[in-house]
Amino acid sequence: MIAFTFDYYRPTTLDEALNLLTNEGFYPQLGGTDLIVKMRNKALKPKAVVDLKAIKELHFVKFSKEEGLEIGAAVTLNEVVAVPEVAKYYPTFHQGVRSIGAYQTRNRGTVAGNIGNSSPAADSVPGLLTHNAKLRLVSKSGERIVELKDFFTGPGKNVRQQGEIIYSIIVPFEGEAIGRYYKIGRSRGFDLSTIGAALTVIDPSGNRDIRVALASVAPTPVRAFEAEEFIKGKELTPENVEEFCNLVQKSTSPITDARGTKEYRYEMAKVLPRKLLRELGLFKEAI
Ligand SMILES: Cc1cc2nc3c(=O)[nH]c(=O)nc-3n(C[C@H](O)[C@H](O)[C@H](O)COP(=O)(O)OP(=O)(O)OC[C@H]3O[C@@H](n4cnc5c(N)ncnc54)[C@H](O)[C@@H]3O)c2cc1C
Repeated sequence: MIAFTFDYYRPTTLDEALNLLTNEGFYPQLGGTDLIVKMRNKALKPKAVVDLKAIKELHFVKFSKEEGLEIGAAVTLNEVVAVPEVAKYYPTFHQGVRSIGAYQTRNRGTVAGNIGNSSPAADSVPGLLTHNAKLRLVSKSGERIVELKDFFTGPGKNVRQQGEIIYSIIVPFEGEAIGRYYKIGRSRGFDLSTIGAALTVIDPSGNRDIRVALASVAPTPVRAFEAEEFIKGKELTPENVEEFCNLVQKSTSPITDARGTKEYRYEMAKVLPRKLLRELGLFKEAI
């Protein structure tokens, strides 16, 4: 039970929602799978909740090779999983979304909510980071585009201002891609990650641009830019892969919490990139 009172609005137009959200203490809601949990725990006490799900304008998915992918804020996680182009061109992101909670959670939850909640453990984020995703933020005073890598500022914190909402997530199409998202959790299916690792290879049979991002290893999800720069254009020899994995590990600053120790997370940050390279058939280790 939620033991405090709050107002609930369900506007049907974006204008109406943006007007309401200019008020201090008014929170946007999509699936509510994070927001309502936090309200029940009294971690958040909104004056009002503005439910965005009835705004038709926020229910869309578009894809073209020229413009890339754009996902409206109100599209559910299950709807994203069902888009063939997401599975085909953004496999790491697709696997990350599919790994969130159970089917029922994915039926309500959204990618915009996963990002808006800004947990370091958000499973949709590492894949999106490897694809250079951006956010379209809108407010009464207009629109701005923010790179996803610049959105998060700490656990539960981001650069969104009062009155602003994530309108959509934009994911450029940069060429054919292969990839894997691997999540270690305490139980299968229903837990946040102890650590999550996304490895995406753009243009795998050409220039082979290897990208890595991790969840639950720092105050925000992180992309391992230094490791990526190191491995660019290099042959995947045991020495190069070792250094690549060392640099991925260096990009992390894990803590100990209920889901795992910082030592375990730090170790896994080095193990997982190697595992994913192997699973994608890019690197064969002598046993
Ligand atoms: C049983 C269960 C299992 C879960 N398992 C996982 C898991 O495995 N991995 C994982 O990553 N998460 C997990 N979650 C967390 C949650 O389901 C996801 O983060 C989900 O994607 C949140 O989406 P939502 O639409 O429900 O967000 P909401 O709860 O509606 O909103 C989340 C936050 O974003 C803000 N917000 C909402 N809409 C917008 C907007 N348009 N613009 C800006 N901010 C906005 C809200 O104010 C709130 O702070 C789980 C949750 C539950 C209850």
